[in-house]
Amino acid sequence: MSKSNSLPFSYVIGLEVHCELGTKTKMFCRCLNAPFGAEPNEHTCPVCMGLPGTLPVPNQEAVRMTILVGKALGSEIPQFCKWDRKHYFYPDLPKGYQISQYDLPLCMGGELALLDAEGKEESKVRFERVHLEEDAGKLMHGNSGYTKVDLNRAGVPLIEMVSKPDLRSPEQARRFMQELRLMVRTLGVSEADMEKGEMRCDVNVSIKFTHEGEEVWTPITEIKNVNSTRAVERSLIAEGQRLYDEWCAGGPIRIRKGKLTAGWDEDKGSVNINRAKEAAHEYRYFPEPDIPPLEVYKVASLNPEKMTLPELPNARRLRYLKEGLSMADIETLIADPIRLQRLESLMVQGSSAKQVANWLINAADCLSLSDEQLKELMGLVAAGEVPFAGVKSQLLIIAEQLSKNPQQSLRDLLGSKQLLQAHDDTVVQSAVADVLLANPHAVEQWKAGEQKVLGFLVGQVMKKAAGKAQAAKVQEVLRQALDSHE
Ligand code: ZN
Ligand code: MN
Repeated sequence: MSKSNSLPFSYVIGLEVHCELGTKTKMFCRCLNAPFGAEPNEHTCPVCMGLPGTLPVPNQEAVRMTILVGKALGSEIPQFCKWDRKHYFYPDLPKGYQISQYDLPLCMGGELALLDAEGKEESKVRFERVHLEEDAGKLMHGNSGYTKVDLNRAGVPLIEMVSKPDLRSPEQARRFMQELRLMVRTLGVSEADMEKGEMRCDVNVSIKFTHEGEEVWTPITEIKNVNSTRAVERSLIAEGQRLYDEWCAGGPIRIRKGKLTAGWDEDKGSVNINRAKEAAHEYRYFPEPDIPPLEVYKVASLNPEKMTLPELPNARRLRYLKEGLSMADIETLIADPIRLQRLESLMVQGSSAKQVANWLINAADCLSLSDEQLKELMGLVAAGEVPFAGVKSQLLIIAEQLSKNPQQSLRDLLGSKQLLQAHDDTVVQSAVADVLLANPHAVEQWKAGEQKVLGFLVGQVMKKAAGKAQAAKVQEVLRQALDSHE
């Protein structure tokens, strides 16, 4: 936000986010939904090749997933929805039209909140709609002078989530995109791997500023098919500035009406302006005659009222904040299903969220231990019997040795690696007495309220006790000695 504050203009941004659903089969035929790792055109049939005389049959699971997304965003799920044909000509679209939803989509409205570091709602982005459609195929431009068409992706179920123009900075747009990705992953409806194009977005941007006392609001640029969250931010930074510069230079933007479409060149870091956007009527939308309208409340497995949502990311964040985790740590864990699942499983078994999170973030190799082993190890470290710094670099080896030799106890193994710290009370007591005697200045500092001197004294005692002291216990003994010191 601070970046945009220093700019001479402000942003008005809306995103249209496309996301492929992770169904087994395609949207209107029973071909496998597996565009990756297959031979070109392996997963095709007369329906998804757009041959005449074929009949599309909607995929129930895709409809269910779309409703789930709508529910998670708090959309209204109308009683009645239908499909429409959206016409355009392009070689990756064999029918010459895409089956989409025009005026009666599956989900209307909705919103997604972005939280700040304290878990307070920083902003709320509203949605126009979420609808279900089919993806197009892919063109492969070879250097032989030919372009090849692969229709494995043609007919893959695709949802389009259209935000209202509520976003106000490139950084916020990036975070919104990341949040949507996390949402669809949490719902289990898509892997949303942006590198594979499973999630991509069209970025709509205009800028506002005051020029000689008059408010200027530029026409919109739509940057098509932006395929990383970083590119969302970068393209917005570039296009905002370009719009402003063009206006200041007296360019055609001053008289132009209507949208421009553009592409994003990741390597050059610049937008390529294409052509004037086709207005909606030029798609010649009309109702799909081969698919009857759908009344989802009348289908048991599609009834929105009977669907249950998993815990959504924001609810999870608030729960972890209450457990004492920082938002930075929460973001690290929430983006990683493996560590997240481990955290949950140990919390259920009574471990403290803060302790487990510390291990998962600062000693991620602990994932190779079983829940039981990790719990025991966390206990030993907390009791000061095992040094965290010493053990964390050896976690992979420890896990491997434990699995090779299940008879061996963790404690024995740590002992054999000199990781189990001995503790001899008599040695520690006399070392403490010696150290206090030898460091009168440090004792004075402690009495003057300088807490940090304790670390220095602990170090001195550890040295003197030569391997027979556990730091946590030394600290305790030292505190007592210092407080009773005359
Ligand atoms: Zn097919
Ligand atoms: Mn679309």
